[in-house]
Amino acid sequence: MSSPNPKVERVPSLLTLQQELTKQLDYNELMNCMRCGFCQPSCPTYQETGIEAASPRGRIALMKAVADGVMEPDESFRQQINLCLGCRACEPVCPSDVKYGQLLEQTKSVLFEQQLRSAKKNEQNEAADGSGYKSESNRPPNMKRLHKLVKPAFKSHNRMLSLSVLLEKYQRSGLQRYAAKKKLLRFLPDHFQTLERILPQADSQGVAKRVNASFLPAKGERIGTVGMFRGCIMDVLFTETNVNTVNLLRESGYDVVIPEAQGCCGALFSHSGDLETAREFAKKNIQAFAEAKVDYIASNAGGCGAMLIEYDYLLKDDAEWWAQAEHFSEQIKDISELLLRSERWKSIESIDEGLADQEHTSQSRANHAPQDTITYQDSCHLRNVMKAGRGPRQLLRLLPDLNYVELEGAEGCCGSAGIYNLLQPKMANDILDHKMGKVNETGASIILTSNPGCLLQMKIGVEREQAQDRLKVMHVVDYFAEKVMK
Ligand code: SF4
Ligand code: SF4
Repeated sequence: MSSPNPKVERVPSLLTLQQELTKQLDYNELMNCMRCGFCQPSCPTYQETGIEAASPRGRIALMKAVADGVMEPDESFRQQINLCLGCRACEPVCPSDVKYGQLLEQTKSVLFEQQLRSAKKNEQNEAADGSGYKSESNRPPNMKRLHKLVKPAFKSHNRMLSLSVLLEKYQRSGLQRYAAKKKLLRFLPDHFQTLERILPQADSQGVAKRVNASFLPAKGERIGTVGMFRGCIMDVLFTETNVNTVNLLRESGYDVVIPEAQGCCGALFSHSGDLETAREFAKKNIQAFAEAKVDYIASNAGGCGAMLIEYDYLLKDDAEWWAQAEHFSEQIKDISELLLRSERWKSIESIDEGLADQEHTSQSRANHAPQDTITYQDSCHLRNVMKAGRGPRQLLRLLPDLNYVELEGAEGCCGSAGIYNLLQPKMANDILDHKMGKVNETGASIILTSNPGCLLQMKIGVEREQAQDRLKVMHVVDYFAEKVMK
């Protein structure tokens, strides 16, 4: 029977939610956890709170308690699940090889389908959960509604590029400066205001238009064909990085294909439990790259790459797509891995053709001094899921005269985690402030990283430190390209 008032959302019963979690959670995987606690020191939310329930072991115990029927999946349960960054730093350190990411995904998928919506219950449980993250503004929004709103843009890359014209115009027309001067955005939460300030200049052309082709032949001896995964945020806010990626791949000896039909990787949807949309996007990408007949698929964004490399798991129950998904997953490589396969960079020399005439090269080269001290912040997903955390460091090591200082705790999340920093701003900022303290200890003038979310989060960190005049944030690809394009 339908609700008499359509505006009143019906709260699914805790019993139904519990039954669904019991059905969806992999009980064997839950039982794999031997409660040793080796994962605790690697967990950023445990480090920040010291609360067992905010740790990997604690969250697994909560999931098991719900699956065993000894605990209700109430609001405090959901809060601890949502407070998890999904950084998966707990996985590589686990002696039992517990697939925490899969358990988290199973839980989020059920919560997504059956969101608890009682504001009264929220308040009661917030007071009781002891997480320390109680304010109304910290409560995650209704993800189903959010997804409905943003899905059309992520579904079509052309639509995404068209929408980015608005941002481009806002940034370039002087409207952004006017808005800042008149404080027109003061009604937004602080973290949205900060994000608006640090957003890079949008480019509505995207990489395919910038390089004016969807196929670009290798330079020199050919070593393979690479399909370029351009991403959504990467292609709009970090277009230059995508252009540099294409140029470096060609210079390394790869033919580069940019399949037009590719789309969003689906990470934004998958991480919040919307697996149906994630699977829809996965099939679109698998099809697009299969038709392109490539040897490898290059990702320059750790978050996207981690999503793409797990399409085989995402489609494991789909008899029609699984084999293709498995092949697709095997093809996914981080850009650093692909560049390191090439002999081209074993002895770095100047590149005087094709790359050196890029307008941005001289601009960005002029942007900082030659004696920069560099540090590197890991992309969690590149390190913990793609298992390619060494790649960017090995690539940097190829550069002569590099003044590199390892960042203590670089393997720990920066607090970005997709849109976590917008949904859980207090925790994200606490993590970020500790991270910036460690960055300052390195004396670095440039922070490198390998993922758009990390780039934006570290830029927020620089802004929070008011360190814009002494600290830059760059993608590893851009830094490497800048150095080899002399
Ligand atoms: S390290 Fe693994 S087995 Fe040990 S408590 Fe953490 S998840 Fe469980
Ligand atoms: S995914 Fe990250 S935040 Fe979540 S439990 Fe594991 S280490 Fe902690």
